[in-house]
Amino acid sequence: MTYVIALPCVDVKDRACVDECPVDCIYEGNRSLYIQPDECVDCGACEPVCPVEAIYYEDDLPDEWADYYKANVEFFDELGAPGGAAKMGVIEKDHPLIDALPPQSEG
Ligand code: SF4
Ligand code: SF4
Repeated sequence: MTYVIALPCVDVKDRACVDECPVDCIYEGNRSLYIQPDECVDCGACEPVCPVEAIYYEDDLPDEWADYYKANVEFFDELGAPGGAAKMGVIEKDHPLIDALPPQSEG
């Protein structure tokens, strides 16, 4: 099981969650952050600190954002499990689901 980052993170990327993750498994793409599902230890530390409530345990993902489970998993199809986000910096890509979104207002 894993935690998942959904739509509210797109174009916000507040990064508060990154500082909380004990295993450094929250990776930064161009427009969103992504949780590496094999590295996530389900500790839940990231979820309450996200100011836009973008993070959900996979079983609690709202139906309208169900596709974000796949987006987080597939983001790592080529990257695999890098073993730490800090050393990766910003990864210059996004999942196609996020690429296809219009610019998101920061409200
Ligand atoms: S805290 Fe929320 S908005 Fe910020 S990077 Fe993490 S998931 Fe995205
Ligand atoms: S649940 Fe824990 S291990 Fe998984 S991404 Fe959040 S802080 Fe990291």
